[in-house]
Amino acid sequence: MEAFDKIKVTNPIVEMDGDEMTRVFWTWIKDKLIFPFLELDIKYFDLGILNRDATNDRVTIESTEATLKYNVAIKCATITPDETRVKEFNLKQMWRSPNGTIRNILNENLFCRNVPRLVPGWTMPICIGRHAFGDQYRATDAIIEGPGKLKLVFEWEVYKFTGAGGIALSMYKMEESICAFAEASMNTAYQKKWPFYLSAKNTILKKYDVILFKDIFQEAYEAHWRSRYEAAGICEGGYVWACKNYDGDVQSDFLAQGFGSLGLMTFILVCRDGKTIEAEAAHGTVTHHYRLHQKGGETSTNSIASIFVWSRGLAHRLLDFTEKLEASCVGTVESGKMTKDLALLIHGPKVTRSQYLNTEEFIDAVADELRVRLSSRAKL
Ligand code: NAP
Ligand code: MG
Repeated sequence: MEAFDKIKVTNPIVEMDGDEMTRVFWTWIKDKLIFPFLELDIKYFDLGILNRDATNDRVTIESTEATLKYNVAIKCATITPDETRVKEFNLKQMWRSPNGTIRNILNENLFCRNVPRLVPGWTMPICIGRHAFGDQYRATDAIIEGPGKLKLVFEWEVYKFTGAGGIALSMYKMEESICAFAEASMNTAYQKKWPFYLSAKNTILKKYDVILFKDIFQEAYEAHWRSRYEAAGICEGGYVWACKNYDGDVQSDFLAQGFGSLGLMTFILVCRDGKTIEAEAAHGTVTHHYRLHQKGGETSTNSIASIFVWSRGLAHRLLDFTEKLEASCVGTVESGKMTKDLALLIHGPKVTRSQYLNTEEFIDAVADELRVRLSSRAKL
């Protein structure tokens, strides 16, 4: 049997199960990489589409309330239903995106997206901070059916529509929320000892982006951070990039592509209370691979982002195990054992079957490496 004692994690964590291909290997991650090593008190919620339908989506709300109670949630990718999905699963209604529901309940938050450096090309990691509150995501947008005057309620004339009309958008953000974002972003960069950037459209949005973003960040930097940054000698290396909500969404997808595969990107939702987090993979349920799996075909889906969801969620609770779990992922890939999406980057379209592992083989390889690293615990 196992040569190591299981690590006991006393405080409960919330697990949110999901759909399709990610649900398939989610179980393998738990059975091969987590449960053999850790004794966990898991509060399990099945956010799979059928259970969301059966519970009229109560399960999503209950899992989020549990997150606020226990402070750590680990989430598998889930289907956001559209018309096709409503027919496919014969759903009672087109349930809203669970991620949207979770973010609304957890409310003010920021995302830190971490892209592990596993493939050549971009040599340093980049951490994107996304101010995931307000802006376009809580905007009021409207179709203007014909001519007329568009006003904000505070009585500013915005635009006089003529002809066939058009569209309009009004959005907002609170000052305290930007201040919290500034502090959290600069703190993240300081802890990583990486340079810090903020991007804003300050030449165009002179009030929204200059007075409320650039100036708040500058003031926070001068007041709390400049001396610490200078003392720490932060200069070379990767960087932390604080983005507004929409920019953070777009730029993080762009980064994932640039680093090679969506299967490598994890993000962590940090609540404004500073102690509640929810971790999830940035990709979806990988339907394309699941269809193949359903027909009994072999898949090679990358589970790294989802493994990091467990490690980053658990990192809140125990550092040593999670560092070794992540190091095992990186070590496995660096030893040449990887899924097809990564093998394609190295060997090109002529990649042969012997140059990559299938979905389950990859997780087994990580488990082998994890065992070696854990049994050397005493020496480290
Ligand atoms: P997706 O699941 O992210 O997959 C898109 C494509 O990206 C895949 O077909 C695959 O390309 C590649 N890919 C993504 N993850 C990968 C991985 N781990 N390993 C290898 N390749 C990977 O997006 P989708 O197909 O547009 O959406 C499927 C479902 O997921 C939808 O029902 C959607 O609602 C849901 N979704 C959920 C979340 C979430 O829960 N956070 C986020 C996005 C989408 P190849 O087929 O070329 O190999
Ligand atoms: Mg997105």
